[in-house]
Amino acid sequence: PYTGPSADEILAKRQQFLSPAVCHFFKNPLNLVDGKMQYLFDEKGRRYLDAFGGIATVSCGHCHPEVVDAIVNQTKRLQHSTILYLNPVIADFAEALASKFPGDLKVVFFTNSGTEANELALMMARLYTGCHDVVSVRNGYHGNASGTMGATAQSSYKFNVVQTGVHHAQNPDQYRGVFGSDGLKYAKDVDDIITYGTSGRVAAFIAEAIQGVGGILELAPGYLPAVYSTIRKAGGLCIADEVQSGFARTGSHFWGFEAHGVVPDIVTMAKGIGNGIPLGAVITTPDIAKVLTHRTYFNTYGGNPVCTAAGLAVLNIIEKEKLQQNAFTVGSYLKQRLTSLKDKYEIIGDVRGRGLMLGVELVMDRELKTPAKAEILHIMEQMKDMGILIGKGGFFGNVFRITPPLCFTKEDADFLVDAMDFALSKM
Ligand code: PMP
Repeated sequence: PYTGPSADEILAKRQQFLSPAVCHFFKNPLNLVDGKMQYLFDEKGRRYLDAFGGIATVSCGHCHPEVVDAIVNQTKRLQHSTILYLNPVIADFAEALASKFPGDLKVVFFTNSGTEANELALMMARLYTGCHDVVSVRNGYHGNASGTMGATAQSSYKFNVVQTGVHHAQNPDQYRGVFGSDGLKYAKDVDDIITYGTSGRVAAFIAEAIQGVGGILELAPGYLPAVYSTIRKAGGLCIADEVQSGFARTGSHFWGFEAHGVVPDIVTMAKGIGNGIPLGAVITTPDIAKVLTHRTYFNTYGGNPVCTAAGLAVLNIIEKEKLQQNAFTVGSYLKQRLTSLKDKYEIIGDVRGRGLMLGVELVMDRELKTPAKAEILHIMEQMKDMGILIGKGGFFGNVFRITPPLCFTKEDADFLVDAMDFALSKM
């Protein structure tokens, strides 16, 4: 049983000693002390079904025993020191990871986070092309350091510090965008940005296949192939940010970009790669990877034996437990059930996403699409009281984000939808 401080005591310490910028869900924040697969437990032992997965991070399940074993065993053996010596784990994991990619994507760099992975990807593209200009998509999220904050395109995540050379293209948003689902029309904006806003040459284009923080928005079909072609004509590299959409989450594919029929030049990963352990990665071609030999590049903890042991365990579990297939089957079922809820409640403006990366957008009015900001908070609280933790996001903060551990079952999906149905019926 839990014998630690109460939620109130933790909150008081947090207010005194932790960043005032940290925010938390719920009027009375939860004190979560244990996790097991798709469940989380508070200090009183109350169980919650986790439909957010630490923001699409818990891929295999909280404290999956095989990931824990891999971490513990490696920690007992050797925790650190790979940058200047050899160790088998980092090499094995790099090989296993590379085997999941198409084409010439074969060289891996390890980092500690998604931000670092994207910073490295952007720097490599700039070095390789000799250009500085980058195009990213409005409403995207790529990190919070200088380069990645530049690529991030939502005002709530952008501070007033130097972020040069990033142009933000129109978002191919199929729900609110002016061109609906016509990917080619949105892609034209990237042409215009290159023509009017750059020398005609660019370093890179970066995008998520499904915007996560942005509210589970799947790029309109046809957009990525058209933009990749435009960018390559301008000498640039195409970067796929798979921090949320990677590692089997979308069900139909292992990587989000695969659903668009493109092959990027650089792919970045984090979150699901480590099931919660701090780990990120960049994969690229041998040719592009060479740019980092011009100087010394290293990252003290990137790819350390403990984190890469966790990563290797994650890949094995996804395969062994058929988690991609589960994300597809359970995700399709859940999406279909959520879509039926949309027929029942006017407040649900849109249900979207793929696999176990789903979004439900709440609006006051289906015509005007006025964001239902207070209502979503209310439903979230109600669902928490019924024992379900669901995420929230989107530019207006009115989109439920459903990104559970990939071991989520059909019964879990039913419980989630029934609880949402009940909460909506009482509004
Ligand atoms: N890219 C995407 C798509 C993300 O969702 C995030 C994190 N929300 C990041 C990059 C940054 O990752 P990290 O927080 O690990 O730096």
